[in-house]
Amino acid sequence: MGHTKKLPLLPLRGVLVFPYMIMHLDVGREQSVKALETAMEGDNQVLLVAQKEAEINTPGEKDLYHTGTVAQIKQMIKLPEGNFRVLVEGVYRGKIKNFLCYEPYLETEVEVIDEVSSYDTQTEALMRHLRQLFEEFMKNSKKISPETLASVSSITEAGRLADMISSHLSLDLEKKQEILEAFPTGERLEKLGQILSRELEIQKIEGKIDTRVKEQMESTQKEYYLREQIKAIQRELGEEDSLNAEASEYRKRISDAELPEKVEEKALKELDRLQKMPPAAAEGVVIRNYLDWLLELPWYKSSHDTMELEDVQRVLDEDHYGMEKVKNRIIEYLAVRHLTRQIKGPILCLVGPPGVGKTSLARSIARSMEREFVRVTLGGVRDEAEIRGHRRTYVGALPGRIIQGINQAGTRNPVFLLDEVDKMSTDFRGDPSAALLEVLDPEQNCNFSDHFIEVSFDLSQVMFITTANTTYNIPPALLDRMETIYISGYTEEEKLKISQRHLIPKQLQENGMTHEHLQVSENALRDIIRRYTREAGVRNLERNLATVCRKIAREVIRDENYCLKLNQKNLRRYLGIPRYRYGSAEEKDQVGVAAGLGWTETGGELLPVEVSLMKGSGKMILTGKMGDTMQESAQAAMSYIRSRSDYLGLSPGFYQEIDIHLHIPEGAIPKDGPSAGIVMASALVSALIGVPVSSQVALTGEITLRGRVLPVGGIKEKVLAAHRAGIRKVIISRDNRKDKSEIPAQVARKIELVEAETMDEVLGEALVGFEPANPGENISKRHQANISTGAGAAVSH
Ligand code: ADP
Repeated sequence: MGHTKKLPLLPLRGVLVFPYMIMHLDVGREQSVKALETAMEGDNQVLLVAQKEAEINTPGEKDLYHTGTVAQIKQMIKLPEGNFRVLVEGVYRGKIKNFLCYEPYLETEVEVIDEVSSYDTQTEALMRHLRQLFEEFMKNSKKISPETLASVSSITEAGRLADMISSHLSLDLEKKQEILEAFPTGERLEKLGQILSRELEIQKIEGKIDTRVKEQMESTQKEYYLREQIKAIQRELGEEDSLNAEASEYRKRISDAELPEKVEEKALKELDRLQKMPPAAAEGVVIRNYLDWLLELPWYKSSHDTMELEDVQRVLDEDHYGMEKVKNRIIEYLAVRHLTRQIKGPILCLVGPPGVGKTSLARSIARSMEREFVRVTLGGVRDEAEIRGHRRTYVGALPGRIIQGINQAGTRNPVFLLDEVDKMSTDFRGDPSAALLEVLDPEQNCNFSDHFIEVSFDLSQVMFITTANTTYNIPPALLDRMETIYISGYTEEEKLKISQRHLIPKQLQENGMTHEHLQVSENALRDIIRRYTREAGVRNLERNLATVCRKIAREVIRDENYCLKLNQKNLRRYLGIPRYRYGSAEEKDQVGVAAGLGWTETGGELLPVEVSLMKGSGKMILTGKMGDTMQESAQAAMSYIRSRSDYLGLSPGFYQEIDIHLHIPEGAIPKDGPSAGIVMASALVSALIGVPVSSQVALTGEITLRGRVLPVGGIKEKVLAAHRAGIRKVIISRDNRKDKSEIPAQVARKIELVEAETMDEVLGEALVGFEPANPGENISKRHQANISTGAGAAVSH
């Protein structure tokens, strides 16, 4: 260790002087001035020691650090008010060994710390590292001049380098003191390295914060500037007032509208955007439109729900004739909903042919519950956006049909009819049924989001009812959510009653007339039903009645007391020539012609099948837009006939000399389904053996290769259709026996239902005077007669 020295002590507040550092100090304290004066009298040296706390005026032993710097006083200038400015230069480190006296200044015995620099590689490495760090720090801080860097890099002495660097860093006093106290030199270098790395880290973070703050400042300034510009332009154009007026009007509407919190927030945000826009901006129109939509939607508005089952029953009865089963199902459905107090039940789906009153039932439900009614047709919807709306970025974007419907209803709990759910289709524009699923799912629809509206709307209070013609085309996931109620077609009697009780009064009222202007005889009505319409429902019937009413309206204007008594005779004058033939489908029994029964979306239908034979080579021609299943049925029928050629009296190779043409003439509508098997077989046999099929008979059933008759669907609709067409006898499969109970009694009384198990039985019933060939009897040329005369020729019997 070094020698000791007696030196006056100069306490420093908040600063620290390193060896080799030159610094100005202002000295004012009496004690300090005394110490300086003593030093000046001797070798101009003082010990500079930092105070632990700057506030203390006369620091004692405990208030001072015990390591300091012995400094040379270079200059001392007297300042006014008894203060001195001294220029000091640090020489070496000194450590206080003893306090010799405290008055009038502090005198100490100081141990001089000699720094012996050792130049090992470790030190060299540490030095390089320090220089690097410092250089980097300097570059970033921009506070330290390049000269400093040059002087730092010129220092070769390790201890001095550390001191120099430390003096340039703005470290707090404690840190600097730590460095001052750190010896031997190696320790100091390491300590400084740590401190410097940390400072660098902090510096980087500061830099980041700084740029962020700057950016923010810049963007707000820019926005402010631009906004002021817009205002200035608007002021120039004289538009400012109108814009402000519009904004404040919107603001008032928003606060008056009692919107849900989120919606209000959104509305205000959009309004803010609107205000920032020049008035003629195209987007302004979009925002205004959007705001209008938000403001008009019934976010909270709902109608008071009355739910008296008697009322529902009464209203349903008032509006609809018959349909007891359907009405009961509806009332049960509503009762369950009411009891469980749940809106989360399945969705009602009314399934049936057009014009059977599905829509009007839904309307009645709404009326009986005193709810608003909206109807949206989904037929042909193939774009998801039609359900869920277009995003506002699209030109001419609108909300989807659901939100539009709600808006139209004006309440958030309407009865919402989704018509024709089976007529939606899917393509590249997304799957509308998936969107619909969300609409109908009670778990999800309380937060229904429309792309246009953006904020979610609560659909959970809406009572959705759907309709469809058949359930086949409804996506299974959707069908799963629904409670289906089937409504089948009406009988003639029902149609008669419906038109007398509902359709005629309704049409009279709609055309501004009363019973005094029109009386329709029952026979006239029957004629309209039979000869002017052929449908499962009553839509065309209503249309025809409307036509009559309009024609009378003209007369009534001329003569107030005009009264038309519509009867069978004058019907033509008003409705023109009858469109359909009533009675047997074909007037006479014919060879090669049989009446089948089809079941389509529009209810049951009569489908005549024709067979014609020509000389040829065993070809079979099938025409009439038959689907695959139907073509297969025709093949099966043919195979059955060939296997039964014995029984039918046909030569085994009969088919090789002829071509057979089988045709289903009814319109150009595609037809398919298995139920034409026995009709085709009957028509074929009839043509081949030359025996006519009864014109009073219609057939429906599938055929197997062995001639068994299999059951088919839609018996009720088909029998109704046969009845409409004036058929007397319908041949069905024995296995369809269970369906007989569904057939309305009035119809059942007029139509004979024959159950057949085998094709042989069918032939016995359908062909007029059919006799199986006796075994061995040679009538192998039975069919030959027909080829020349041609099928379709009338045969008297
Ligand atoms: P859908 O929706 O099934 O196609 P609509 O509900 O449009 O049929 O019915 C067509 C017309 O027939 C409506 O004017 C309806 O009031 C009337 N209608 C249908 N069934 C009945 C019925 N059972 N009683 C009274 N009117 C009926």
